[in-house]
Amino acid sequence: MTDVEIPEDHPRYESLVTRHRIEGGVERGITSRQGLIAQGRGEAFDYLLGERTIESADLAARAAAAHLLLADRPVLSVNGNVAALVPGEIVELADVVDADLEVNLFNRTAERMQAIADYLREHGATEVKGLAADARIPGLAHERAKVDADGIAAADVVLVPLEDGDRAAALSDLSKTEIVIDLNPGSRSARVADVPIVDNVLRAVPNVTRHARALRDRPREELEVIVREFDPEDALEAAERTIRTGSFADGGE
Ligand code: ATP
Repeated sequence: MTDVEIPEDHPRYESLVTRHRIEGGVERGITSRQGLIAQGRGEAFDYLLGERTIESADLAARAAAAHLLLADRPVLSVNGNVAALVPGEIVELADVVDADLEVNLFNRTAERMQAIADYLREHGATEVKGLAADARIPGLAHERAKVDADGIAAADVVLVPLEDGDRAAALSDLSKTEIVIDLNPGSRSARVADVPIVDNVLRAVPNVTRHARALRDRPREELEVIVREFDPEDALEAAERTIRTGSFADGGE
């Protein structure tokens, strides 16, 4: 999947790169057609947020990094949009925080599961979970409940970027710390998260990695303070305020 030539100083550079990667993901059989619709919704919120990482999202990314570093069994969930948009970046984050990668699809097909696992391996992943599907998340319909027993089912901290609201809610009912990346501060996924990062996955994943690198040699107590002091309600309110009070034209050309 190649990025077509877009000059980096183009005012909508990131948005155009995103579209091309998602399009490429569909062509490769990684991203579903519903994924295109999800991307459109995300893009609208990104526009309203000014297509930048707002301060509260940066604080959330830092809290997410602290959670992942403190975790015994952290898992990063990867769907078709995440694989298309940030394949190398998600593999790098897994490396830095020593987490497992698990493919987790809303519209699960054996072909797409395999295509995503292969694509992550092409980007440096050694082990990719999700194909065993030998455990279930309670409260979800059969196909959408499938997870790996030694992956998400056993995890204490799960990062679910762009998760569907039902599954995010079912996961948060289990005693796991749930980190969500979602541009819509009103989505159910963002609202049930212990740590909602209201930012584009394109910016958020490398930002969590940057924080994790800065924090990984710090004492546990310091990480625990960062985790304790983070308030998900504040993060959602700050994002909503930014959308409501921002200048509409700021996000545009
Ligand atoms: P809910 O969580 O309320 O049930 P949903 O499941 O109906 O929402 P979908 O349209 O399935 O939502 O999922 C897309 C979600 O992912 C949207 O909330 C959208 O804002 C978000 N999203 C899409 N693309 C990105 C992206 N690149 N970065 C971050 N979030 C994104």
